[in-house]
Amino acid sequence: MKYKIIFLLIFSFLFNSALFSQNKETDSISYYNNLADANIKTNKYKEVFFYTQKAINYAQENSLKKEQAIQTAKLGRLYFLLKKLDDAIEKLTESISLFKTIRPNPEYAKAYYYLGLSYIEKKNFFAAEICINKTISISAALDIKENDDLILLQKAIINIGNKKYNLATKQLELILSKPNSAGKLDTKAEAYYQMGLIEEQNSRNNLALSYFNKALSLNSKSQNVEQKSEILLAISSVYDKMLDKSSAYSYLKLHLNLKENIAIANNEKLGIDDYEAFKESQRKIHQARIDKKRKEQERTENFSRLINYLSIALIAILSLLCFSLYKNNKIKKKTNLLLQEKNNELIKAKEKAEKASNARADFLSTVSHELRTPLNAINGITHLLLEENPKKSQLHYLSSLQYSGNYLTAFINDILEINKIDSNKIELEHINFNLLKLLEDIKNSLIEIATKNRNEFILDFDSQIPTHFIGDPIRLSQIFINLINNALKFTKNGKVSIVAKLKSLENETATISFEISDTGIGIPEEKLESVFESFSQGSTEINRKYGGTGLGLTIVKKLLNLLESEIHLTSQVGEGSTFAFDLKLAIAKNQIELKPQKEISFDLSKIKGKNILVVEDNKINQMITKRMLENKDIHCEVIDNGEEAIEVIKNNKFDLVLMDVHLPGINGTIATQEVRKFDATTPIIAMTAISLNENREMLLSFGMNDVITKPFIPNDFYLMLTKYLAD
Ligand code: ADP
Repeated sequence: MKYKIIFLLIFSFLFNSALFSQNKETDSISYYNNLADANIKTNKYKEVFFYTQKAINYAQENSLKKEQAIQTAKLGRLYFLLKKLDDAIEKLTESISLFKTIRPNPEYAKAYYYLGLSYIEKKNFFAAEICINKTISISAALDIKENDDLILLQKAIINIGNKKYNLATKQLELILSKPNSAGKLDTKAEAYYQMGLIEEQNSRNNLALSYFNKALSLNSKSQNVEQKSEILLAISSVYDKMLDKSSAYSYLKLHLNLKENIAIANNEKLGIDDYEAFKESQRKIHQARIDKKRKEQERTENFSRLINYLSIALIAILSLLCFSLYKNNKIKKKTNLLLQEKNNELIKAKEKAEKASNARADFLSTVSHELRTPLNAINGITHLLLEENPKKSQLHYLSSLQYSGNYLTAFINDILEINKIDSNKIELEHINFNLLKLLEDIKNSLIEIATKNRNEFILDFDSQIPTHFIGDPIRLSQIFINLINNALKFTKNGKVSIVAKLKSLENETATISFEISDTGIGIPEEKLESVFESFSQGSTEINRKYGGTGLGLTIVKKLLNLLESEIHLTSQVGEGSTFAFDLKLAIAKNQIELKPQKEISFDLSKIKGKNILVVEDNKINQMITKRMLENKDIHCEVIDNGEEAIEVIKNNKFDLVLMDVHLPGINGTIATQEVRKFDATTPIIAMTAISLNENREMLLSFGMNDVITKPFIPNDFYLMLTKYLAD
């Protein structure tokens, strides 16, 4: 079947430049568009293509999607007009995919319509039907009605192509039933032509001829040469079938002439060379775009490659960092472990040292305690012998014995004192005391030595210093006595001065600087440091000449440390020495004046005839104590254990009990505790070689009234008895 059918059936809005709104960007599009349209009118299609393509390029470069779609569709339609169907299909399809990305508009419907026409021309009725149906649905959505007949005509043509002649006939009759209006002449002529084709297919040649003639008559009004050419060919074909060869020939000739004219006219519109040139330029533009894209892609690839390399480098660096952190951590852990081990070792070493120090302290305590008991016997017996009118020759020995006993007693006491400080067994007291009085008392008690050595002895007490403080007067006395005693001892026919000056007064604290200076023998420079170390007498001659244990300054330094102070020594041999230190003392708010201690007279007559119980297990001590008491006409009973002592006290009346602390069975403290349950008044005096763990307070807490430390100096012993027995 022959389908040389399509005429220029153009939508009413085929080239509608008014579609473009006036804004800056569309100005350029509309400029190219107008140029293209102007050239259509003068049939200069080379220019039309050129400007349309320019418009497309501009729209694309400026991302004007709608304008790009419209101009691409226009290019498609131009191809269609010039029967370049493949190009037309390509461009229209391209435009449709652009239209799909924006809001629907009439141009979108038109693109589908022309794509449908192109497919009809290519006899692809399946695709054509889809396109025309799309045109219908888009037009309906946009409420476009003016092209309904034209669209119906295409549907009829498609149906004919699909051999659905009845359906096609009905559609064509519907078009033909409409009145002849100027705009519809082409359409109606085409409808008659199509009816003719159907009749020709049905071999109703006469009917077909009549339709073709009607078409020809309507065509004569519209001047559509292409349509006319097709109709003439159809008439020729029918005459041929009717065997009217001459008519067939003459119509064919008319058709050919017309066809030739059309071809010439089309050639004039766009010469084949021009078209090829245009296609070539299109191809070049296309190639340039592909090249540009490729370059961009290459650049992107290069960039992403660079990013990849950088990422790899970064990952490598991070991995290295992680690794080094991990290593570092491991080393740290190892070091920590080592440190911990060392720490544990140190702790163990410290514990060991502490144990050793405790063992030393315990050892010293035990040894000194063990020494004290026999020393007590030596001192006691020496005293007794001296009292028993010894011979003149014996007197010298006894005096030496007494001196040695006293020395050993002082020595042991000093050792015990240092031991006590070193084992942190000393607790500082915080009691109210009068500093001036303390210094005066010390001065008075040492005045004898000063006189003996013919020394001037001065106390210079700054009047600005408050008199009353809170502190530990016993420890302070120890410090002063040691220093002053040394000064007096090492100075002959000189001067010893005690100077106290107020350094500062803040809130409730006074800082006082003390100086004990003498004009004595002095200390060599190289000994200035070492004199504070234990057993560090200047030289052996000094020891022999001046006596002393070499422990006094050690005790002073340690005690000052306890009081958070430091001792400074300046001295020159032959010139004298100065010991200086500062003390921070808390000022007492209430000036409690301690009652002056009752002057205990040494009136032994007052204790004559008193009845004393001695609880003591050591036979020698029993004997000494008994003799010492009986020498003073004191009646004395001796018991050697605690249990019996309790019974004896319960059943007898004693004026005083001398209680040894260390006894076999229950010791003196427990025995006292038991006695206090039934007897609260009888004075009980503890007799002990006080060891580190026993202190005065502890003993008093069991109910004892006082403590006599063994070995005792006989005078102290009698003094104590007088204190409790006199009244
Ligand atoms: P000691 O009991 O021997 O006096 P110290 O520890 O008190 O022990 O003194 C140690 C040594 O320091 C003394 O033996 C003496 O050589 C020296 N020394 C201490 N004080 C004086 C002083 N005022 N003048 C000279 N030498 C002193």
